Amino acid sequence: MTFDDIIDKYPGLFTDYEGSHCPDGWLPLVDEFCGRLVVEHPGVQINQLKEKFAELRVYVTDYICADLIEETVERSRHICQACGNLNAEIRDGFYWMVTLCDSCTETHGGVKR
Ligand SMILES: [Zn+2]
Repeated sequence: MTFDDIIDKYPGLFTDYEGSHCPDGWLPLVDEFCGRLVVEHPGVQINQLKEKFAELRVYVTDYICADLIEETVERSRHICQACGNLNAEIRDGFYWMVTLCDSCTETHGGVKR
């Protein structure tokens, strides 16, 4: 699954998909988020979705779904951005903070906070 697959799967959900991006490891989380958003809050669109400071950021057209966003962002802090491992935590990377599991921290660099 790629981010493009998610955009194709939810037609019209993203108002600006070119300004959005998602680390590979978070694709299943974002897919689940989008699936719940269209069912639980139909009509709400995503203006931007991206990784920032090692957690997921989602900007939407109506914050009626704030609880769902909060829950998803909290989960993103524990899911490896690179591989999707559920035992990840936020690390200091070489240039910025990243959320990685132990194995990807060895591969990609970074240190435990
Ligand atoms: Zn990993």
